[in-house]
Amino acid sequence: MLKVIGLKKKYGKHTALAGLDMNIKKGQVYGLVGPNGAGKTTAIRLIMGLSHMDDGQIIINGTDARKKPLKVKEMIGYVPDNCGSYFNMSVNEYMEFFAAGFGISGIKAENRNLKLLEQVGLEDKVEFIADTLSRGMQQRLSLARALIHDPEFLIMDEPTSGLDPRNSFEFKRLVKELKKSGKTVLISSHLLSELSEICTDIAVIENGMLAAQGSLTEILGRIEHSNPIKIVV
Ligand code: ATP
Repeated sequence: MLKVIGLKKKYGKHTALAGLDMNIKKGQVYGLVGPNGAGKTTAIRLIMGLSHMDDGQIIINGTDARKKPLKVKEMIGYVPDNCGSYFNMSVNEYMEFFAAGFGISGIKAENRNLKLLEQVGLEDKVEFIADTLSRGMQQRLSLARALIHDPEFLIMDEPTSGLDPRNSFEFKRLVKELKKSGKTVLISSHLLSELSEICTDIAVIENGMLAAQGSLTEILGRIEHSNPIKIVV
């Protein structure tokens, strides 16, 4: 589903990514874990085409992201680390706005949006102003928005960061449901413990490089045998 090869990015003289490689297969829930500043958001922003890479290659479902950025964007649902402002829109207006961006409108949009809001447990919040929702609800709204065009692949940047245990649990339950329905997911966190319940595979990123990659069992095994993966568990 996603192949990242030798991805490099500098901000001025600072190297954020120093040749990152990743390989995500269809159906995997792939965790990208690393400490603050490791390069997780930079990698995700490059994959989403929101920032330019200095070098490397990103292939999504066989398509080179640099050559066909729009085609690639249609294949992905993106949950950013920061939703930004909702411009005083209600939950319903917010969903309609993004549905229109994918050419979905009228009764089709109404039905689709209601189904997605039900899926994330926000069906009783349709008239609420999105800015007034709790962080947990906003993250679930962000997930509903990411699913509008029914993408095969979801990319989530630290979606459980700052959530209380109940909201974090609920978000992870939704990710498990997405896996069951056949979606492929890339999800980042600075805590392996946040990802260990939901991920099949883990990549550990440190200083903009891949420090370890493998199944969850392999990575946990390496930590247990004190192989030097210096991440917070
Ligand atoms: P966090 O968990 O704190 O979000 P991260 O793993 O997502 O961290 P990035 O946000 O990708 O890390 O940052 C990687 C490095 O690049 C950090 O040293 C950061 O300070 C730097 N960086 C990120 N964005 C910029 C920018 N726009 N300009 C300058 N430096 C940046």
